[in-house]
Amino acid sequence: MSRLQIFLESMDENEILKNGARDCAPLRYWGKGAVTLLGDSAHPCRPNLGQGGCMALEDAVILAKCLGSGLPIEAALPRHESLRFHRTKHIQQHSLVMGYTGQWQAPLSLTVAT
Ligand SMILES: Cc1cc2nc3c(=O)[nH]c(=O)nc-3n(C[C@H](O)[C@H](O)[C@H](O)COP(=O)(O)OP(=O)(O)OC[C@H]3O[C@@H](n4cnc5c(N)ncnc54)[C@H](O)[C@@H]3O)c2cc1C
Repeated sequence: MSRLQIFLESMDENEILKNGARDCAPLRYWGKGAVTLLGDSAHPCRPNLGQGGCMALEDAVILAKCLGSGLPIEAALPRHESLRFHRTKHIQQHSLVMGYTGQWQAPLSLTVAT
């Protein structure tokens, strides 16, 4: 039995969170007033590129800068959104394409794609 199997066997079935991973079209608005989203809640995507955690960290850094800029919160949050939207949208869309092409199985398609 592998170490992974031993680890999985040792877990309580009821303690295992089973969530599906889904892509989502880029959201044009992440919040309103003094409330905003960041990370996966703002721009979820399946881990085809392994960028979700990176984007969440980038969001946090930019959000902190916006909140520390002296702008009122109702202006700082949209500023954060506008600074982050295009990059996260691009990665979401790229991830969607990678997920799609990653499912290709026909040899000719794979040759063309690679
Ligand atoms: C299999 C897999 C592989 C991945 N590989 C990579 C990778 O290689 N590189 C990379 O950059 N990213 C990777 N990611 C993506 C990365 O894990 C996520 O994008 C990242 O964790 C998002 O961070 P987040 O803080 O937005 O959300 P989360 O990490 O999901 O954090 C949200 C937190 O909120 C908590 N929460 C939820 N609801 C409530 C509530 N009502 N009250 C209180 N707390 C609540 C949750 O328990 C959780 O702790 C991978 C994801 C998966 C699934």
